[in-house]
Amino acid sequence: MSTTASTPFPAATIVGYPRIGRRRELKKAVESYWAGRSDATTLQREAADLRHSQYSRLAELGLDASNSSIPASFSFYDQVLDTAVAVGAVPQRFASLADDDGRLGLDAYFTLARGDAENQPLEMTKWFDSNYHYLVPEIGPDTKFSYANRWIREQFAEAAEAGFTTRPTLIGPVTFLLLSKAAEGSGAGFPPLSRLEDLLPVYTQILEDLASAGVQWVQFDEPSLVADQPVDSATLTAAVERAYTVLTDGNRPQILVTTPYGSAGELLPVLAGTDIEALHIDAFKGTVPDAGALRGLGDTVLVAGLVDGHNIWKADLEDASGRLSRLEELAGRVAVSTSTSLLHVPYDADDEQQLDPALRSWLAFADQKVAEVVTLSRAVGAPEAIATEIAAAAEVLATRPSASGVRRAEVRERTGSLGDDDFQRPDYEVRQAAQKAVLDLPPLPTTTTGSFPQTSEVRSARARLRKGELSGDDYTAAMRAEIRRVIELQEELGFDVLVHGEPERNDMVQYFAEHLDGFEATVHGWVQSYGSRCTRPAILWGDVSRPEPITVPWSSYAKSLTDKPVKGMLTGPVTILAWSFVRDDQPLGETANQVALALRDEIADLESAGIPIVQVDEPALRELLPLRQAEQAHYLDWSVNAFRLATSGAAAETQVHTHLCYSEFGAVIGAIDALNADVTSIEAARSKMEVVTDLRQHGFSRGVGPGVYDIHSPRVPSTEEVRQLLQAALDHVPASQLWVNPDCGLKTRGYEEVTESLGNLTQAAVAVRESLVAAR
Ligand code: GLN
Ligand code: ZN
Repeated sequence: MSTTASTPFPAATIVGYPRIGRRRELKKAVESYWAGRSDATTLQREAADLRHSQYSRLAELGLDASNSSIPASFSFYDQVLDTAVAVGAVPQRFASLADDDGRLGLDAYFTLARGDAENQPLEMTKWFDSNYHYLVPEIGPDTKFSYANRWIREQFAEAAEAGFTTRPTLIGPVTFLLLSKAAEGSGAGFPPLSRLEDLLPVYTQILEDLASAGVQWVQFDEPSLVADQPVDSATLTAAVERAYTVLTDGNRPQILVTTPYGSAGELLPVLAGTDIEALHIDAFKGTVPDAGALRGLGDTVLVAGLVDGHNIWKADLEDASGRLSRLEELAGRVAVSTSTSLLHVPYDADDEQQLDPALRSWLAFADQKVAEVVTLSRAVGAPEAIATEIAAAAEVLATRPSASGVRRAEVRERTGSLGDDDFQRPDYEVRQAAQKAVLDLPPLPTTTTGSFPQTSEVRSARARLRKGELSGDDYTAAMRAEIRRVIELQEELGFDVLVHGEPERNDMVQYFAEHLDGFEATVHGWVQSYGSRCTRPAILWGDVSRPEPITVPWSSYAKSLTDKPVKGMLTGPVTILAWSFVRDDQPLGETANQVALALRDEIADLESAGIPIVQVDEPALRELLPLRQAEQAHYLDWSVNAFRLATSGAAAETQVHTHLCYSEFGAVIGAIDALNADVTSIEAARSKMEVVTDLRQHGFSRGVGPGVYDIHSPRVPSTEEVRQLLQAALDHVPASQLWVNPDCGLKTRGYEEVTESLGNLTQAAVAVRESLVAAR
């Protein structure tokens, strides 16, 4: 091999930096471009300004501008999509958008991400165990790879001109193929990984091009290597070995391979044995490898991901420097980095001046983490060099356990005295009979997942309340008006179980966080969820309790408007944890139980208010599932227990529903059953009811509502389509168990399409009901 340069790997770096902008500048720029309010030149200029200011900021925080320590981790939408377009992997249905060289313009790039009138966008799915979503490349036996889009080279040159020697980053070839799905028409079971040999020459070409542009270091992210894969280990080992044998064999920059989100396990020695120049390990979440695993390192720099990129707590520098010393014994040279990209955390804790100073002092957002990395890098070879910083961090962290609200006796007494009974409801047969007596529902009862469209009036009422332009009473009146409208609509459409529509909720987790003790909201703490979408997770920092009822007034008001049963709506403990930044000073299961008890109290109050059905949503149950099978049982144990703790106080006659979405339930069907809900609604429309086969195989015996209306698309399903989906479900689920509902909440949709779709849904249910009676 011949590398263009031999500048040493920087002592301090990060895997990636948030790219949405400190004040969501990229979101605003991109959305205004999509809406036609600005042109492409403006968007490109705004993006370039943003990149420039991010590089400057990182340099200011201590990353050297001249030595490749700043990763070029910008993306207009998603880093996996960027790699797909760099290697020309454009699905057939979008082929006409590319020029003869397979190149896409920015509009075409956005079309892949968002779809157009004729074509579905690329599928979106969760990125490892985070709440970021990436776009799934589609690879078939005939996908043509070519070095198509050269944005990484252009961005390197742009940065260089401004005085920054950046480190271009791409998804590594093995992870890229493992994250891909088989393109339509590929034949059953086609593994995209089988295209590795054809993909590698394109990566080689990219490396050559980057070398000629003067790139010193390039980064390949290989997070798939830390997750169990549906590929046997020999195939995986061979793929990794082959990929990095080929990639290290040309005229190229030096190569860093990263393995964030866990331990690469048996693939670590494989990577260490290749000719790459730097190897990153997640030394926060992953384990410190033993000497044997890294024996093959040779001169390869070990890049120690010591600072957590995924949560927001100030690092324990003493612990980190201990890990650093152990790693120094294993490698000739060690550099310091974050465990993952900082994509998952907000920019700057100093922006949150409204927070209690004690809480703020425990936080490290992206910028604080960069500083921690820089500090730790000074300890390489000289642990005593940061003694002052270690002591300072220890002093701050020592204030945490005893600070007011962190550990509250009354909360601890409750969780400490839980017994088996607290997790157990009466037998299902008993519940079923009791519920039947109260509810009197027809076969195939119809309901929705909870939220109705959030109109601009609803959102603006909330904004005006926040700004003090609307009084509390006027706000309540506005929400009540919306609830009335939603109840009337459901009555008109003939629903059997009604909801209040959740107009009062900005977000299904944030809303509860704002009403529970132990949580704090941020003002600027936005993190990218996908594309231009951001969420602002709350910080769960202290012991959790419920100062007063949260949803009861809204549900009661809805109940007062109708004779039909109204379903109370709560977000489950696991989802509340998954979508918040959670304290790291105790096991998650302990925190989950505290949240569960608060919800248990809420359910008791809903029951007292005469609400006969309560739904506890757990859409994120699948999301937190550990990437390694060996760790999954423990997770499922505490997460299922937390749900059961929340719901097991409910009387036998109270019908408990749950709702799950974000697909791939196969792995967790047992856990879904163990939730022991009376009715489970589950996303299914897009996968054509696949999940019901899984449920039948498992022997699921309680109520189930596979979604029959795909709410992620503005398309209105016809009555006939819904009827067919219900018939398909009836092949696997007895009519006595089947519920009829959409895939998920309707919050992001508009009233017009929702009214039509829901009308078709209830009509289809009635038609199937009648055919069942006729068949008897
Ligand atoms: N009840 C919530 C809603 O309907 C559920 C949303 C979700 O599953 N993501 O909006
Ligand atoms: Zn959902």
